[in-house]
Amino acid sequence: LVRFKEVQKSYDGETLVVKRLNLDIQQGEFLTLLGPSGSGKTTTLMMLAGFETPTHGEIELNGSSITHMPPEKRNIGMVFQNYALFPHMTVAENLAFPLEVRKYNKADIQARIRKSLEMVRLDAFANRRPGQLSGGQQQRVALARALVFEPELVLMDEPLGALDKQLREHMQIEIRHLHQDLGITVVYVTHDQSEALTMSDRIAVFNDGIIHQLASPAELYERPSNAFVAQFIGENN
Ligand code: ATP
Repeated sequence: LVRFKEVQKSYDGETLVVKRLNLDIQQGEFLTLLGPSGSGKTTTLMMLAGFETPTHGEIELNGSSITHMPPEKRNIGMVFQNYALFPHMTVAENLAFPLEVRKYNKADIQARIRKSLEMVRLDAFANRRPGQLSGGQQQRVALARALVFEPELVLMDEPLGALDKQLREHMQIEIRHLHQDLGITVVYVTHDQSEALTMSDRIAVFNDGIIHQLASPAELYERPSNAFVAQFIGENN
């Protein structure tokens, strides 16, 4: 579905925060970018979303280059850690907003909102404001908003980082179920090893702008390719 070819990124023209990225993302998979703070995970996601441009290399979606395509032309949904919901708008209005910006017609907007809210089982909450919802429900609204364009790919950057441990574990299962039910491709960023190990089909272990290993959770755990991976995966487990 997606291919990174020899991608590099520098913000200052000097230091490479992503050094030499070759990565294939398969249709329908749940791929996690895992690594310590500053290892280049978010930068990689931002290049895929189109908010950052690679300094070198190409990114392809379905075989065509999207390296310089603006974000709104890519059929990619995004969920951020702080949800970025508008507090003064209802759930339905929050979902309508990106569709209105892109001039969808009213009937289509209503249909898309209903469908997205059903997917995350929040259809009964359309007229509430974010402040009247639990943290987990707000997270689901953010997810529903990422789904209104029926994206081919959903990107999530530490989406559960703001939640307490119990809710986080609950949401991990929910997101996993959603991924299975909807058959969407998910690229998920976290620095939490246990989260990555429970949720992912495959994990790309980042450190210092490089993928050290790309493998299934079991493989990473049983056959880490180097000392960094072994140590990082072993932490907190
Ligand atoms: P974190 O989990 O802390 O977000 P990360 O693995 O996602 O870490 P990035 O956010 O991609 O890492 O950051 C990689 C490096 O690039 C860091 O050293 C960071 O300071 C730098 N960086 C990130 N975004 C920018 C930017 N917009 N301008 C300049 N430097 C940046």
